[in-house]
Amino acid sequence: MPTTEEARARLAAIPGLTVTTCTPLSGYTRFGIGGPADIYAETGSVEAFAAAMAAARASGVPTVVIGGGTNLIVSDRGFRGIVLRYRADRLAAEGRLVRAEAGAVLQDLVDFTIERGLQGLETLAGIPGSVGAALYGNAGAYGHSISERVACVRFFDGEAVRAVGNRECEFRYRESVFKRQKEWIVLSAELAMEAGDAAGLRQVAGEILRVRNEKFPVTMKCAGSVFKNLLFAELPAAAAAQVPPSAVREGKVAAAWFLEQAGAKGMRRGDIHVADYHANLIYNGGAGTAADLGALIGELKARVRARFGLELEEEVQYVG
Ligand SMILES: Cc1cc2nc3c(=O)[nH]c(=O)nc-3n(C[C@H](O)[C@H](O)[C@H](O)COP(=O)(O)OP(=O)(O)OC[C@H]3O[C@@H](n4cnc5c(N)ncnc54)[C@H](O)[C@@H]3O)c2cc1C
Repeated sequence: MPTTEEARARLAAIPGLTVTTCTPLSGYTRFGIGGPADIYAETGSVEAFAAAMAAARASGVPTVVIGGGTNLIVSDRGFRGIVLRYRADRLAAEGRLVRAEAGAVLQDLVDFTIERGLQGLETLAGIPGSVGAALYGNAGAYGHSISERVACVRFFDGEAVRAVGNRECEFRYRESVFKRQKEWIVLSAELAMEAGDAAGLRQVAGEILRVRNEKFPVTMKCAGSVFKNLLFAELPAAAAAQVPPSAVREGKVAAAWFLEQAGAKGMRRGDIHVADYHANLIYNGGAGTAADLGALIGELKARVRARFGLELEEEVQYVG
């Protein structure tokens, strides 16, 4: 039987890895919710991170990798296992090729490219979190996603560091191979950018940021949209028949549209609330719990299922 104490001892022996025990995960999630991790370890060194992954694997103790915690729902009981975070955050440019380490803040990458007059990431301005998780979930906004720029991704496959090209990443809407291969942890990416005008790009990003900050105030304890939007072509016929053409954009229907018809706006459970201006935005008023959050998400799914015969799928990721 693997023991947490054995795992802690193995991790503590790795140079460059910071290890703590019984670490409250509420401090590592934007929801501000989550009980303790048995072990929490982080590093900015690729060698230490690979060694930590290998040690965690060898110990047999359940392990999860997190980024900035902006898309996570962590259980109130926390996580019985090891939580790892890779914090390497270097950004570098060579002509139109940009290299970004997974621990870099996505907004820093966006700013870095704009400053250099490199076009292609400006519509991702204001998406919180890290570059690694953005690749994992193919983050995007305003009709674009990070996958459009990816030339290759370096990752740790559980045993060795490997690289894959864009096609092998199997990017789709909020999907990638890294979501299915849970052992594959993104270390860095090379992004192929286009030449642009820095002032113009700054203006586009600035306007997007302004709109986003109104919708998602920076202090709001939330995960952005909780549910994925839906492809119109994949809707059950009965649901598709109820969607007005004006609700279809770029082939997708916002999950918020279905939620709104189901009366989601303003719903609450304990101190967990659905925003009264956006049916796909759930936030913690300050004293919320993962139990209430899970119950509210379950109720929203049940309402949409009953009304449209449709299963909403969470964009947020669960830990514990
Ligand atoms: C206010 C707000 C607005 C948002 N708006 C958008 C939006 O417009 N578009 C959008 O796409 N998202 C949006 N999001 C969601 C969130 O920003 C993204 O999902 C982001 O990519 C999560 O980054 P993170 O570093 O916080 O990841 P975390 O929340 O820490 O983790 C998310 C997932 O990524 C995995 N992961 C983390 N690092 C790695 C790695 N190195 N390798 C492999 N897997 C990894 C984790 O295991 C976890 O499953 C929004 C969130 C908030 C709070």
